[in-house]
Amino acid sequence: MSGICLGIIGGGQLGSMLSEAAKKIGIKTIIYCDDIDAPAKNFSDGFMVGEYDDKKKINEFVQKVDIITYEFENIPYETLNEMNKLKPVLPKPSVNRLIQHRVAEKDFINKLNIRTTRYTSIEKKSDIETLEDFLPGILKTTTMGYDGKGQYPIKKIDDIDSLNIDFSREYVLEKLVKLKKEISVIITRFGTHNYEIYEPIENLHQDQILKFSKTPAEITKKISSLSKDWASQIAEELRYIGTLCVEFFIDRNENLYVNEIAPRVHNSGHLTINAYNISQFENHVRAVCSLKKIPLKKLSNAKMINLIGNQIEPYRQNLKLSKNEFFFDYKKKEVKEKRKMGHITTLI
Ligand code: ADP
Ligand code: MG
Repeated sequence: MSGICLGIIGGGQLGSMLSEAAKKIGIKTIIYCDDIDAPAKNFSDGFMVGEYDDKKKINEFVQKVDIITYEFENIPYETLNEMNKLKPVLPKPSVNRLIQHRVAEKDFINKLNIRTTRYTSIEKKSDIETLEDFLPGILKTTTMGYDGKGQYPIKKIDDIDSLNIDFSREYVLEKLVKLKKEISVIITRFGTHNYEIYEPIENLHQDQILKFSKTPAEITKKISSLSKDWASQIAEELRYIGTLCVEFFIDRNENLYVNEIAPRVHNSGHLTINAYNISQFENHVRAVCSLKKIPLKKLSNAKMINLIGNQIEPYRQNLKLSKNEFFFDYKKKEVKEKRKMGHITTLI
């Protein structure tokens, strides 16, 4: 045993998989989460329920752990910052603050001379009326979005009237990219110019939710190396510690764009559990706990299918898997439409 106790904020499936990876290398985990039924409590050593701004509860949590990390990005910056005064929070809170905000995130990426989609900030309804140029586009809330939540496709200006959009919130309007493909690059950074990078993963979304991932991605060598360069440039610039994912678009003319950055382990990297010697989860735990970096080795090509809503049922009931198939049940209490319930990785 290392004697380290890692605190994880957030109790979804990413928290579960981080806990399992930590256990494997002798690190204890305590989850802090606002949902009493959070699935990660089935996998971690300890579990605490509380709001993300409950100072007293959070203080109790901080006392119990040595290092703190998080499995989702929408945590109040103040909370992370206060925790960081007492115990190390990694990746550091300022990274999270930047990436929580879609406009700040895209401004940061463009400053590195890395291409994003065309975007503009929208503060009131009339802002859109002069922005024909950005249409067809997608209007997204600047904060708190995930799995396509808070997003509105807009083909023409008149669409806005029928969409019932809450303009008390801030938005970003993004030009729609004519997608050929989506890929992601997962990188774990341990320190200055010290990182491990996974091969690009090809992703297919349905209704803005990830449905399918595979590695290797079917892309040119040029796109593959550019996407890895951009991901490592972003991780260096953020002085990031831990696992980070960069989501990319490739358009029909083979242009590469950064879609967004996830300052955490990522759904497209679930296949790294079976396809690599060290998964994205173990690497994250290693990096934030200052453990040794182990050279990354791919063991197999792989594909992953997300089981969304009741797609999980047949697998729960009559589980017949071949030797190369691995089923993960997130053990969520309730099956809900559009909720990620589990996944299957197949080594190919
Ligand atoms: P989330 O934070 O919900 O993951 P994303 O910005 O990644 O939001 O959008 C989810 C998915 O919606 C993307 O993976 C992509 O399939 C589609 N999408 C989002 N923005 C664009 C865009 N500008 N052009 C084309 N497709 C887009
Ligand atoms: Mg996304």
